[in-house]
Amino acid sequence: MDYETLIQADRSIIWHPYASMVEPPPVFAVASARGVRIKLADGRELIDGMASWWCAIHGYNHPVLNSAISAQLDAMAHVMFGGLTHEPAVRLAEKLVEITPGGLQSVFFADSGSVAVEVAIKMAIQYWAARARPNKQKLLTIKQGYHGDTFGAMAVCDPVTGMHSLFNAVLPGHFFAESPRTRFDGEWHDDDIESLKNLAEKHHDEIAAVILEPVVQGAGGMWFYSPLYINKVREICDQFNLLLIFDEIATGFGRTGKLFACEHGEVSPDIMCLGKALTGGYMTMAATLASAKVADVISAGGKGVFMHGPTFMANPLACSVALASIDLLEQSGWQTRVNGIQTQLQAELASCRELANVVDVRALGAIGVVEVDRPVDMHVVPRWFVEQGVWVRPFGRLIYIMPPYVINAAELSQLTGAIYKVTGRLLRG
Ligand SMILES: *Cc1c(COP(=O)(O)O)cnc(C)c1O
Repeated sequence: MDYETLIQADRSIIWHPYASMVEPPPVFAVASARGVRIKLADGRELIDGMASWWCAIHGYNHPVLNSAISAQLDAMAHVMFGGLTHEPAVRLAEKLVEITPGGLQSVFFADSGSVAVEVAIKMAIQYWAARARPNKQKLLTIKQGYHGDTFGAMAVCDPVTGMHSLFNAVLPGHFFAESPRTRFDGEWHDDDIESLKNLAEKHHDEIAAVILEPVVQGAGGMWFYSPLYINKVREICDQFNLLLIFDEIATGFGRTGKLFACEHGEVSPDIMCLGKALTGGYMTMAATLASAKVADVISAGGKGVFMHGPTFMANPLACSVALASIDLLEQSGWQTRVNGIQTQLQAELASCRELANVVDVRALGAIGVVEVDRPVDMHVVPRWFVEQGVWVRPFGRLIYIMPPYVINAAELSQLTGAIYKVTGRLLRG
């Protein structure tokens, strides 16, 4: 198919994420990708600023990850996980327990991040049911969160920017505290925790768990907040008998400068969701980890079963590539790389502050954000970035990047330079 035929066919029959079929936003056809470069079907090459939504931490087409998949393919692509098991699943589960914060001991494999969140919510509710507290079925979370697009996950996304009004009749009502305002390295004020504390105090009899994205709120606002906040949340959960769920689907595997974002606060949750970078961007896979306390109570007396079981649970190809990706990460000196990216993002994005339409500039780990004063037009702005030879996909008022960790300084400068130019062009209209 030539480039235009492919694009036209796509636009007539395929629904892209959050898109109209009648006025579809522009799409670009990809022929291949290698390292930090995405090659379009018309021959143009783009430096990737998105890591395919946080996933491709090692870049694309990595020989080590490719061979992990090929080797597994020779053994088997998939077997059901009901009544069967396999070495890739067992080794991956052992690895996840080893590298995640203390206390997390049981692993449930899910097929996407949203499902991992559904699983976490079900675990919390089953935990309290098993402890004869069936009224504890609500969740407490913070505004500006993002936890996925399925119904249970959607119900804990930000109530305003999320999908609450459209689906309000079928969404359970949960409790939303104000999102913390203290910046990542800002001076802590105790009133930042008041909103969540008040809701916990008042409604703990109905609340099964607090769920939030620790330290970095991703798709709900790309906001970096004080790690002290999660320390306070842990205390409140212990005080009021609430489980604590951390959604590290975006932040896991080094993105924020720690292997997991909750390490910034040295806090362990009772339940933790992983996804996105878990397989290095190769396959869809997620995992929900639970503490021994949660697993034991749900399974009380060996009779209780956890009520979930996806068809493609623990897919062997996904487990194998996830294991290879974590090994690669551990051998990659990722901390030095991510710190270097943070330093460079802070230095180079700072120039955007001089633009009159820029409200805030922030960088943490391998995440850089330029917040502008009005939503950007997604029918034109992605094209401007492509013209600059980079792949950056803003949303709302946020222009942000989270590149693969293997990006070099010159490539990163091309991304930050393009952000400066496009942000300036937005100003001129
Ligand atoms: C992406 C994301 C999800 C949902 O993951 P999917 O794989 O898209 O279902 C949930 N939580 C957070 C924090 C995410 O960034």
